[in-house]
Amino acid sequence: MITANALKVKGVSQVTFKDVDNAPWQSALASAIRDPLVLLKLLELDVTKYHKHLYHPDRFKLLVPISYVSRMTKGDWNDPLLKQVLPIQNETQSVAGFIADPVGDLDSVISSGVLQKYQGRVLLITTGACAVHCRYCFRRHFPYADSMPDKDKWQKTLASICNDESIHEVILSGGDPLMIPDKRLKMMCHDLADIPHVKTLRFHTRIPIFLPERINNELLKWLAGLDINKVMVIHANHAQELDSSVGDILNKLREAGVMLLNQSVLLKGINDSVEALSALSHRLFDFQVLPYYLHQLDKVDGGAHFEVDRKRSITLINDLKMSLPGYLVPRLVEEVSGERSKSALE
Ligand SMILES: *Cc1c(COP(=O)(O)O)cnc(C)c1O
Ligand code: SF4
Repeated sequence: MITANALKVKGVSQVTFKDVDNAPWQSALASAIRDPLVLLKLLELDVTKYHKHLYHPDRFKLLVPISYVSRMTKGDWNDPLLKQVLPIQNETQSVAGFIADPVGDLDSVISSGVLQKYQGRVLLITTGACAVHCRYCFRRHFPYADSMPDKDKWQKTLASICNDESIHEVILSGGDPLMIPDKRLKMMCHDLADIPHVKTLRFHTRIPIFLPERINNELLKWLAGLDINKVMVIHANHAQELDSSVGDILNKLREAGVMLLNQSVLLKGINDSVEALSALSHRLFDFQVLPYYLHQLDKVDGGAHFEVDRKRSITLINDLKMSLPGYLVPRLVEEVSGERSKSALE
């Protein structure tokens, strides 16, 4: 594990864990690691041995906050957290069938920033920003700038939800919706909660895992005051991501009246074993989070090296069923363009 001392390397010499803990979340984000060489040095990994495997993309560069780095194991190239964030040369290989918009998002935009694929639920692309760049992200090529409900368009977005009484749930997605500053996010949530036919607000976010500092008292306070069903689907892929600092945050969210679920992506070399998936479910349950979906990888350009063969995915989930109570087994699903729900693989 990383200590404050280890942070005293080039580029992050001013940062210690104590500072990060006390700083507003924006500072924690500002001090996130953006240089692969700094990350590898922190982890005491010999860069010279690995240089040819590293990839320095022009966009969707490395981005990882320090608190997440602190949960990685030093000296381990195969660390399941490191593998999720480190850009490597494999991303540059184009593989047949792996495309820019694998789940048909662009065909589902019903108005600015609003995606509807399924009955009763709409998904809002609230921001293009994330606290981390997950290398397997299915929206890594999404043209956010053209699709977000910016300030002027928010009234239009709101009107489209107001005018459709079949919409009972609004999902705030992105990017990561918790990257939006409190004032604006609070306003958006209150506007949505005021629509009589909207019964549930759902957040799809990796922030509790990646930038726990963001879940500050201000956020918790206004969340608790929102008079609507609140669901947060966090996104943990490995038990090692869930240390006690994340656990504290999850407990606070629950106390604020938020129902907590988890979705994961099945990732080759990261969580594709019964042991890893079982440990993840148990760890989630330690913090009273229930597993929801386990996604078969979306075939996004640059992500092929993370794919687990479908047959193996099904074997894994069947083996998992034999070792866990039913409520700790996530549903293995994939997203098929044009389908009316997520599709089960089993
Ligand atoms: C995945 C997704 C949802 C949520 O589906 P659930 O099965 O309700 O979790 C909603 N809208 C879109 C566009 C989605 O991709
Ligand atoms: S947090 Fe979600 S949207 Fe952001 S990079 Fe990771 S997978 Fe993609």
